[in-house]
Amino acid sequence: MPRGDILYLVIPCYNEEEVLPETSRRLREKMTALMEAGRISPRSRVLFVDDGSKDRTWELIGRLHREDSLFSGAKLSRNRGHQNALLGGLTAAVDRGAQVTISMDADLQDDIDAIDAFLDQYEEGCQVVYGVRSDRTTDSAFKRDTAQAFYKLMAWMGAEVVYNHADYRLMSRRAVEELLRFKEVNLFLRGMVPLVGFRSGQVTYKRGERFAGQSKYPLKKMLAFAVNGITSFSVKPIRLVLAAGILLGVLAVLGLVIAALLAVTGLASVSGLWWLGLSLWLLGAIQLAALGVVGEYVGKIYLEAKARPSFILETVLDGEEEPGR
Ligand code: UDP
Ligand code: MG
Repeated sequence: MPRGDILYLVIPCYNEEEVLPETSRRLREKMTALMEAGRISPRSRVLFVDDGSKDRTWELIGRLHREDSLFSGAKLSRNRGHQNALLGGLTAAVDRGAQVTISMDADLQDDIDAIDAFLDQYEEGCQVVYGVRSDRTTDSAFKRDTAQAFYKLMAWMGAEVVYNHADYRLMSRRAVEELLRFKEVNLFLRGMVPLVGFRSGQVTYKRGERFAGQSKYPLKKMLAFAVNGITSFSVKPIRLVLAAGILLGVLAVLGLVIAALLAVTGLASVSGLWWLGLSLWLLGAIQLAALGVVGEYVGKIYLEAKARPSFILETVLDGEEEPGR
């Protein structure tokens, strides 16, 4: 059914003047081929989102747009970070009539030839298709290890993220519209999209190297991103505080019981320092546990404040009409 739909490639750009000429050349080739094959509508677009760049990025986007209507642009009023730029771009894309969107990075580290496989799955009825890296041999060992540790930590924290998936992903118009109902401002899109639900698929691809320019994700930003991901999707850190309090409390009570037994039976003399130390443990444990309990409520308030939709109705069968997707 969705053959020949209007596709918008949404590409956040922050100080990307070095890559834009080559990126636009490769994307024009790819999009033209897809149009000629009848896989996407001739009204499909490449939407560059300028995330408040300080170099000539916006000027280049403007020039590309004037030369070829395939390229469109959207400019954020200032730098708001990759995730916000991406959501802004997706919003603009559905506003402009996109029926399906694919988000990717400006440096084309994500293999654009995977788009065909994305579209295959979309045509089979997937509303979301996740791009998954098959290997990370082109990343530095440090980036690979930290990223791997991050995915493991996220999974352990109970947040549902797709392993080795970054933000290279297809989303149907329907999926984007539902995502836009999530009103939270601390965006961690790769955790939010699985919450949207619907039928989804995965496409594995080989991630290449950035062909020009510098990474816009230095260690500081990566860490902030990881912390945001964890705190936005998990109340486990709060639970850990409560658990630590309870554990400490049990140990302290156990210690006190043993000390009391020793003193009563006269097997050993228990010095005042022991009593003092153990009661300090017990007090500390009570405080930790109390903090954990308060934390549980704070966690509830936090989740309420996000005002995420409680449900998304995918289909309703009612009346005469044919059941559709
Ligand atoms: N980016 C952005 N705003 C920022 C930082 C990055 O829009 O504040 C964009 C950047 O232009 C690129 C994408 O996010 O298209 C991913 O950045 P990069 O390739 O530098 O990250 P890496 O691949 O090194 O993780
Ligand atoms: Mg990159």
